[in-house]
Amino acid sequence: VDGAARALLVLWDIDGTLLLRASVAHVRAVWAALAEVHGVDGEGFKGPGVAGMTDAQISRAILAGMGVEAAAIDEHAARVVERVGQLYAPDDLRDHVSPGLDGLLAELHDRDDVIQSLVTGNYEAVARRKLDAAGLGRWFDPRWGGGFGSDDEDRDRLPAIARARAAAALSPDREPWDRDRTVIVGDTPRDIACARADRVHVVAVTTGSHDRHDLADADAVVDDAGELREALLGLAAPAPDAIRKDRS
Ligand SMILES: [Mg+2]
Repeated sequence: VDGAARALLVLWDIDGTLLLRASVAHVRAVWAALAEVHGVDGEGFKGPGVAGMTDAQISRAILAGMGVEAAAIDEHAARVVERVGQLYAPDDLRDHVSPGLDGLLAELHDRDDVIQSLVTGNYEAVARRKLDAAGLGRWFDPRWGGGFGSDDEDRDRLPAIARARAAAALSPDREPWDRDRTVIVGDTPRDIACARADRVHVVAVTTGSHDRHDLADADAVVDDAGELREALLGLAAPAPDAIRKDRS
């Protein structure tokens, strides 16, 4: 197992990155939970772009827009997480996998210098069920943990949570996974921001709601699975030339 300690920890975002336009049932579950717990109709909510926000931030934005007091939002936050998890019932999402990503996940899964986990704004129960519905759950062993919208409302805190959990999977008292051996893969400026907050690598994909211009602050911006593969393999096993250049 100790060989895994220097593996590259790849922390995948879900919506817009692994899966495209796969949020219909998810949004419905959030609305239904907010209706039940707070008695508001979130369906009419017209907010700012929510891509990259955590589920808890989206719920807060909807509720605040409906005039619900912050104290009430906080008081019932755990109940909302619980009910969204119970109400979320996705259809078959296999047609929503971003092209080429299933093959890339499988290839990376087979490498002993890569560990795959998640950093997503989805609540954990939603994230795991969504990936299962898309046929991707098998690539994400829960023992490697992850960072989810149910862990913290602030996405910037999720990479460190994911690094701590992945390291703890190797041994309980291990330091969090090395920043230099960790990469976020996501589709929004918020994914880039959370990687910067934790000082880990970040590769941005243009398959979601943002283009190259929006994502220019990432270490690399890629348009498809082939380019993403190149970027991740370059981090997993840096070419000798690249290492020499770093040191000069
Ligand atoms: Mg996303």
